[in-house]
Amino acid sequence: RKSANAKTTRSAVERVGKIKETSTIKKLNKLERDRIERRKKHAEVKAEKEEFLKKNQGNPHWELLNMITNYQNRIEFRPLSSKDRIEDHLITVAVRKRPLNNADMLKKEIDIVTIPSKNQIILHEPKFKVDLTKYLENHIFTFDYTFNEECNNEIVYKYTAQPLLKTIFEGGFATCFAYGQTGSGKTFTMSGNFNDPKDKGIYALTAADIFNEVNSPNYRRLDLAVSCSFFEIYVKKVSDLLNNKKSLKILEDGKQQVQIVGLTERAVSSVNEVLQLIKMGSEERASGQTSANSNSSRSHAVFQIYLRSNNNLKKVHGKFSLIDLAGNERGADTFSSSKITRIEGSEINQSLLSLKECIRALGRKGAHLPFRGSKLTQVLRDSFIGTNAKTCMIAMLSPGVSSCENTLNTLRYADRVKELGGGDTAFN
Ligand code: ADP
Ligand code: MG
Repeated sequence: RKSANAKTTRSAVERVGKIKETSTIKKLNKLERDRIERRKKHAEVKAEKEEFLKKNQGNPHWELLNMITNYQNRIEFRPLSSKDRIEDHLITVAVRKRPLNNADMLKKEIDIVTIPSKNQIILHEPKFKVDLTKYLENHIFTFDYTFNEECNNEIVYKYTAQPLLKTIFEGGFATCFAYGQTGSGKTFTMSGNFNDPKDKGIYALTAADIFNEVNSPNYRRLDLAVSCSFFEIYVKKVSDLLNNKKSLKILEDGKQQVQIVGLTERAVSSVNEVLQLIKMGSEERASGQTSANSNSSRSHAVFQIYLRSNNNLKKVHGKFSLIDLAGNERGADTFSSSKITRIEGSEINQSLLSLKECIRALGRKGAHLPFRGSKLTQVLRDSFIGTNAKTCMIAMLSPGVSSCENTLNTLRYADRVKELGGGDTAFN
């Protein structure tokens, strides 16, 4: 009997040993498979690039393209995958690179932005030595996440705005900014593609999740009502996008509570209703514009989703602010011959500088909050104070070489919003 016992024990031990062994082998096999897969992908990308190079012999940027391809061939790519962990941050700073589009192709644009990993980005700046030979200055930045041109709005949402949902249900303020030069993809990311309902933007994705959560076992007992507002800030003017661009006043009471007087707030109960509001507001925003320098690129659009308790609709339980910022390509405006353009430019500069300072103040609890520095930061005051405020910024990038200077400015701004990597490291 004893020996029988010993036998069972031994075979049990052996079994466990076997299981351990097989799981280790499985893990090793998986690692090996992943590595082969990565190498294969890398080789494919490399072949594609070489094919592309051959085809582009006549491109004026051929030499540049060649240098960038050589650089890329020497590094390993491990971009963000939807399995990567979602981190919990007070301030999240991410960058998103859009693909080159048809207009870029026509201009024979070259992609000078490389995203090697889930949180790094390299800008290949073309430079000349004294003897006029070309070289690359490679600026490396680190952020919380870097989204390459293959990431869709859903992935961007998953790592930026979605993690902030909890904040508004817990009675706080969540804010998400789209920052970048005109044409870099801010509106695409926030509003989505109106022509394709499958390609929803962050406004609609956030609303959809809010409707789900309101009725979930977690939050049902709070009995919350959902409503939206949509307005625009152009120079110092606030206009209601849900009410014929009616001009609105901002009031600040003795307790520094900021109010936009008469702002339309629409009760909503489905994503479709929200989509309609966004569409209506966006058309309103674009109306009366003609040129590329239209004021939609020169105004901040603020879409807000409110949670109010059905018991006391006067009190805001939580608020999600989603902001499509004015284009940041203002440098050139200071030399503009048009006074209006100069005023607009300096106003936008000022508001973006104040915004940076306010987000930084949020990160350093108790720091002075310079929210009166601009209308934008004034109306968003709640987003930068309080015990329960969280913010994310998505810095959008146009990948083309003609955007190099703006891209570098965008990356430096985003870097300073949250000093993670301690500035960029440039090397050749
Ligand atoms: P912005 O609002 O920053 O001025 P837009 O969102 O209008 O820029 O984008 C400029 C153009 O690029 C639009 O035609 C848009 O559809 C396209 N675009 C932007 N981002 C992407 C993306 N990630 N994927 C595909 N197309 C994009
Ligand atoms: Mg836009």
